[in-house]
Amino acid sequence: MTPENFQLQLLEWFDQFGRKDLPWQHPISPYRVWLSEVMLQQTQVVTVIPYFNKFIKQYPTAKELANAPLDNVLSLWAGLGYYARARNLHKAAQQIDKSGFPETLDALVDLPGVGRSTAGAILSIAFSKSHAILDGNVRRVLARFKGIEGWTGGSAVNKQLWDLSEYYTPEERSADYTQAMMDLGATVCTRSKPLCLQCPLQIDCQALLQDKVHLLPTPKVSKKIPVKQLVFILATNKKGEVLLEKRPPVGIWGGLWSVPELESKLDILAWIEKHDLTVHETKELTVKRHTFSHYHLDYLPIQLTVDSPTNNVMEADLRIWYKHMQHKNIALPAPIKQLFDELKED
Ligand code: SF4
Repeated sequence: MTPENFQLQLLEWFDQFGRKDLPWQHPISPYRVWLSEVMLQQTQVVTVIPYFNKFIKQYPTAKELANAPLDNVLSLWAGLGYYARARNLHKAAQQIDKSGFPETLDALVDLPGVGRSTAGAILSIAFSKSHAILDGNVRRVLARFKGIEGWTGGSAVNKQLWDLSEYYTPEERSADYTQAMMDLGATVCTRSKPLCLQCPLQIDCQALLQDKVHLLPTPKVSKKIPVKQLVFILATNKKGEVLLEKRPPVGIWGGLWSVPELESKLDILAWIEKHDLTVHETKELTVKRHTFSHYHLDYLPIQLTVDSPTNNVMEADLRIWYKHMQHKNIALPAPIKQLFDELKED
């Protein structure tokens, strides 16, 4: 299929079936497209919509986002996962506030958290400039359409797919084309049970012609991921408040509030002494697992009923007593939030 024919089929399909009422499409602006594209990394549209609406209400422009305290930004992000995205958004907003919104590929990929595909999407959708994208949806469509085998994240296949994406991207209607490719991947050429009979590319799709749709894209050979073990301390005072600590700005759950953690149960006594706490009751809860992309975290929550510590225990802004029974707006990692929800039910 020639690029012209590919574009024609796709855009005709888009005119009839494409998504045209997403919140970031009304109105379209570089800031709104950027925000939505960052939120959509590793996250589905249906999950993103309420977060986008909350964010845009609170921070309608890059200036407002740049001037917001990071804690508030992380609170609004809480539950969406991959918190580095929120920290990068905040940093990038400060750059944008100083220097204006970048309008070239090179300047966009200089922003924290913006890769080549996100930059391409911003340029095509917000600026109507012809630029290719290669997000997860487009990778899947192109790998199947051309019958390309091999993990799409591998460097040779990745390059092949970028070349193809550039080859098919039109000069005209680039915003609609980019949206159409994303929509086709999300609604027709889906990971499982793709709707090939409704696909505008079916006539020349190599995966379909060779009966390989179910085999492509080739999954990554999964390696066994390691298991890390931690103890989470749920120190609760007489008022029912739980002790929280601010995590360092980088790393897992960077900048979020969490409960103190220890490598082993054997460290508890030393921890209690260090914090000058009087413990009235200790209760071990059941071990739970949280899986990150590169390891499993098995954590044992241990509840300690304590007297509130003396003043020297609390370091300003780094430790707080948190009323977990109230729905206070605070950025907590998902497993900690889940633990608090369970405590509330008890
Ligand atoms: S025909 Fe099927 S496998 Fe091929 S691109 Fe369309 S939906 Fe995907």
